[in-house]
Amino acid sequence: MDIRIGHGYDVHALADGLRLVLCGVEVEHSKGCVAHSDGDVAIHAICDALLGALALGDIGKLFPDTDERYRGIDSTKLLKEVTDIVRAKGFTISNIDCTIAMQRPKLRPHIDTMRQRLSEVVGIATERISVKATTTERLGFEGREEGVSATAVALLIATE
Ligand code: MG
Repeated sequence: MDIRIGHGYDVHALADGLRLVLCGVEVEHSKGCVAHSDGDVAIHAICDALLGALALGDIGKLFPDTDERYRGIDSTKLLKEVTDIVRAKGFTISNIDCTIAMQRPKLRPHIDTMRQRLSEVVGIATERISVKATTTERLGFEGREEGVSATAVALLIATE
């Protein structure tokens, strides 16, 4: 059986007055991610995990931030495109596990909505999608609320 594992990591700076979008869900907060796209750091990490599993490079290679087509783009569209590539290469997505590190706001109330949204985009059951959130105990850039980081792993299985 051909099984592939992939890992992704992404960071975005936070700035006042921007939308905060995580896993395709808008979260009410005074700050949002600075980015060329909608700044969905969690989806970017998931895309990199999926691409990494097949050694296809990273999200920046596929969707360059110098390309005007991607300005302000809804990152769920990028994730959809990446899952289409994964399937075209002959793999199914077994599961995804993502961790978001940010000090504030509390993400727990949004976790199930995020899993549901990812499930719709990726096309696998919510039971196969894990989203977790952690603070960094006020340490580092996440703890100082200067930025958000996200990591993700994904497991792919060849369809034949
Ligand atoms: Mg990013």
